[in-house]
Amino acid sequence: MVLVVGVIHGNEHDGLAILDDLRTMALPDGYDLWLLPAINPDGLANDVRGNGNQVDLNRNFPHDWTAIARPGEWQYSGSGPASEPETQAFMAFALQIHPTLTLWYHQDAHTVGPTTGRDGPLRQRYAQLTGLDYVSVTGGKYTGVAATWVRKKVPEAMSFIIELGATLTAEQARVHADAVVEIMQMIPNV
Ligand SMILES: [Zn+2]
Repeated sequence: MVLVVGVIHGNEHDGLAILDDLRTMALPDGYDLWLLPAINPDGLANDVRGNGNQVDLNRNFPHDWTAIARPGEWQYSGSGPASEPETQAFMAFALQIHPTLTLWYHQDAHTVGPTTGRDGPLRQRYAQLTGLDYVSVTGGKYTGVAATWVRKKVPEAMSFIIELGATLTAEQARVHADAVVEIMQMIPNV
């Protein structure tokens, strides 16, 4: 089972076009695909990074949570681990459906970060298929990250971030949707 999250940072929403394509595509036999357009509906509606409480949800997850910044600052991590209702709702959902692979769209670093973990080949293949770079994003402190929480806390789960570029054409969205369908066939559908 594969889960694709379109938006966690509300001002990084080009991934929604990829989910729109995936919604109408034929899937390989026996594979289940969950499409979750946005876990940050308020941020998406307001075209801002954080949620309605100005919390950066991608710093709010309870794996390796650290207090960062203050309300209104761009990486504000919230008043505590999983303090936000969006974080709690996603955690409950993921622990209920147990996705084998979770993909998270962000912008605009134009890369997929390498790993020595078992999702490494999927990340590399995704970057190859879409023309994204295959290098780590550096320069920040990344704690309380949703993708990492899934990897650590959902049994047997793979999970990684796809950093799109600053823009995404309709043609590129389709290339990404095709890449999702291709890499899902690299994993057993459990
Ligand atoms: Zn982001």
